[in-house]
Amino acid sequence: MEHLIELDKKHFLHPSTSIQQQQEQGSKLLVESGEGIYLKDNQGKSYIDAMSSLWNVHIGHGRTELAEAAAEQMKKLAFSSAFSTFTHEPGIRLAEKIAKLSPGNLNTVFFTSGGSESNDTAIKLIRHYWKIQGQPERRKIVALKRGYHGVAAASTSATGIPEFWEMAGHMMTDFIHANTSYQSTTEAAIQSLREKFEAEGPETIAAFMAEPIQGAGGVLIPPKDYFQEVRKLCDEYGIPFIADEVITGFGRTGTMFGLENWGVVPDMMTFAKGVTSGYMPLGGVVISEPIHEVLKQKSEGTLFHGFTYSGHPTATAVGLKNIELIEKEGLVENAKKIGAKMLEGFNRIKEKLEIVGEVRAMGLLGAIELVKDPAANENFSKELNAGPKVIEELHKRGVICRGVTYENSNIICFAPPLIMTEAQLDDVLEKVYESILSVQQQLM
Ligand code: PLP
Repeated sequence: MEHLIELDKKHFLHPSTSIQQQQEQGSKLLVESGEGIYLKDNQGKSYIDAMSSLWNVHIGHGRTELAEAAAEQMKKLAFSSAFSTFTHEPGIRLAEKIAKLSPGNLNTVFFTSGGSESNDTAIKLIRHYWKIQGQPERRKIVALKRGYHGVAAASTSATGIPEFWEMAGHMMTDFIHANTSYQSTTEAAIQSLREKFEAEGPETIAAFMAEPIQGAGGVLIPPKDYFQEVRKLCDEYGIPFIADEVITGFGRTGTMFGLENWGVVPDMMTFAKGVTSGYMPLGGVVISEPIHEVLKQKSEGTLFHGFTYSGHPTATAVGLKNIELIEKEGLVENAKKIGAKMLEGFNRIKEKLEIVGEVRAMGLLGAIELVKDPAANENFSKELNAGPKVIEELHKRGVICRGVTYENSNIICFAPPLIMTEAQLDDVLEKVYESILSVQQQLM
């Protein structure tokens, strides 16, 4: 195994990884197999995948149904293009299925290979939509601070976490970030958005883009009325609303899509991750009927946008089978039920431990914040590494979670597979309690 780790250091440049840490310490985990909510490493040690890996393995690991769906499709037609009006059955069937599941008049799907491509696509499509209507100056994208939309050209710039654009110099022009509703009120956040719309000039804005719940920013759940007010404000200014449902889609929050929690329908919706539970790379953009109507009437000639793998037959076949299992096994309902218990568990932990501040969850998407003084909402200083220490303690106890240390906050994020049972949840909660207690004893 040593040999593999050495090869990894030499030849495998890892995404979202400290290159120095990889070189000095080697890989933290060499995963060999997965089954249900568990991952197993090369030493045979089992871990609870409390993040569904990257918020995406909704139906759990090791599902042979998806392997069989992929194999069946590959034997019949592994790949064929969707360019130039060519088409195939799994692509058509999945587009129809997603249109049926999507709220309101979201009815037509453009496929990509993941979330970043989906957000770049949504941004290009909405700019094209304005251009063909004689308003090419409507190019600006207003997004939110702490939002995460991916790492392709436009999605990096739409991301409201500066480290993502600063690593390669600077962001693209025409991207603006308003304040989030996190640790604020709907009124203040809407006012910030209104000020951005006014300052930039609504006639130059192509769209507003936001996640229903900001995931990578630290699972930031907005106040109940926030998106209803966003919808009203966008309508007032005639600005389309693009919802990034890459994390929140396909049941994660206890409804099929995140915005359904508040009865809000966007004009475009991007998805990825849970659509295949990560078994194949796939994403897409769902557009509303009025937007499709404009494209049908005014987009002349070729649409100069398309990925080789847009509508990949094997990926779409796997997506269809995955959604079939999500529905058949009632996983959206399970996310709601077990998610409510997860939040109760977080609250019990908060009552027992001094360093737990705000806890929150919607469905199986949740977070625990660590604070030095909950009464004063005072954060630990960065050097203490409170969050990373808890992640390490969890790792020792066989639970994989993800920490967010934006500015001085220490947030432990949770997004377990939607198949999680109550007994499995209790096991996680116990280990979370022990891990935070251990760090509390080290720090206080
Ligand atoms: N949008 C959101 C909300 C995400 O969380 C992510 C990835 O974590 C992306 C977009 C980017 O997706 P991908 O990594 O598949 O390109």
